[in-house]
Amino acid sequence: MELNPSWDMDKLEAIVPRDELWKFTDNFKIKPTVSDRPIWPTGKGNAFSVKSGYLLASSLRSSHEASTSVDDSELWNWVWGLEVIPKVKLFLWKCLSGSLPTAQALVSRSVELQPWCRRCGEEMESIEHAIRDCSWAAFLWEISPLRLTPVNQSDPWNVKVWVERIRSIPDKEVHNLFASLCWACWYAQNLCLSG
Ligand SMILES: [Zn+2]
Repeated sequence: MELNPSWDMDKLEAIVPRDELWKFTDNFKIKPTVSDRPIWPTGKGNAFSVKSGYLLASSLRSSHEASTSVDDSELWNWVWGLEVIPKVKLFLWKCLSGSLPTAQALVSRSVELQPWCRRCGEEMESIEHAIRDCSWAAFLWEISPLRLTPVNQSDPWNVKVWVERIRSIPDKEVHNLFASLCWACWYAQNLCLSG
């Protein structure tokens, strides 16, 4: 069988938003000469380590807690009712539904790339890290009008809990600014191409 070392764009467009196609076509090259092999997707060099296992287990627990701890229909109504441009609403919905294509999420779906943050390289690029905990993002939140201090890293809130805390503030302007800054953090993260 003849292998074609390129993406099937028709099929890819059916499952990936058009504005995110470049992440696949530019960054994840298909290697037809490399044989398939088992990997531990979240370990450095695709090797298992206790740290990578702990972090993965923690993120799975956070996702489970997030999916069961809030009234989702109320949350979605809040997202779509924000007074921000539509792409910011869509972005926040992706964050809260776990469908944002972070490096960690892509690796968990067997995409071959390093799961580490494209900006600092210190932690896995989870949603929380990309838009809140990375040092650059944390600095942005601190100097913003919201003056948000970094969350306690020994007990980091997942993104849904974090959003719920913001949502409990009775000020629509705060909500709108929060959503826009979340999007800005992700936009800046994507300016750092993965190596
Ligand atoms: Zn980082």
